[in-house]
Amino acid sequence: MEYKEFARKKDYLVCVDSDGCAMDTMDIKHFRCFGPCMVEEWGLEEWRDDILYRWNQVNLYSMTRGINRFKALAILLSEIDKSCKKIPGTEEFIKWTEVSDELSNAELSRVLEKSGSSCLKKALHWSNEVNNRINEISEWDKIPFAGVKEGLAFAHEYADIAIVSSANPDAVSTEWEKHGLMKCVDLLMAQNAGSKTFCISKLLEYGYEPDHVMMIGDAPGDLSAAEKNRVRFYPVLVSHESDSWNGIKEALDRLINGTFDNSYQKQLINAFEHNLLN
Ligand SMILES: [Mg+2]
Repeated sequence: MEYKEFARKKDYLVCVDSDGCAMDTMDIKHFRCFGPCMVEEWGLEEWRDDILYRWNQVNLYSMTRGINRFKALAILLSEIDKSCKKIPGTEEFIKWTEVSDELSNAELSRVLEKSGSSCLKKALHWSNEVNNRINEISEWDKIPFAGVKEGLAFAHEYADIAIVSSANPDAVSTEWEKHGLMKCVDLLMAQNAGSKTFCISKLLEYGYEPDHVMMIGDAPGDLSAAEKNRVRFYPVLVSHESDSWNGIKEALDRLINGTFDNSYQKQLINAFEHNLLN
């Protein structure tokens, strides 16, 4: 359903992220596509295992989880340039990631019309290769975590449900539809709807009390979007996703009976941060 056609039906709202939160799609994209494509693009076979380990650490298993792909690339190239081999043009690429308002393939193509930097060119080639490789992943390898269907069905009895994701809207809708999750969803707000912080703020305009709203997410960016809107945050912990989904009933019970207080919230955030810091 389009945002403009949405109407509030319940007093509670559950916002849920897709990649790495409801759908088990993040590990596979980083393991099979992002890291290996970087090793190929810059000829880094000699250091392959160490580099893939660092790539996954930065993108999946630390507080930078969910970071923009070009920012992650800047971190890795800077490390590789210092400790493995010289990467020509690294500084110019890093500079671009620091100053550009938009970090996307389209913006990188525009910059390349003016500058011929080999590192920027390789970064765009890498990013396109990553997209090609992601498109080759079978639909059957993109599945929801155990417990998602049941958790969302339970939530939907009490709350409106909105997907709040920064992924491509068609991809999200196809994946959720395929696994029968869409019937629990009232609204999809994806990449084209704006940032997660903005999406939650627009949803609050429908008149939900902020403490009747819960964002379910797997990355620090989800937490920050919830905090900026003063709504509750329920973390899905990386490597423990099913346990997290099984615990969602307690969080919803608390949201509904008014016991999702600051101390419970703090406990959830501590567990989330501890899981990413260790
Ligand atoms: Mg996510």
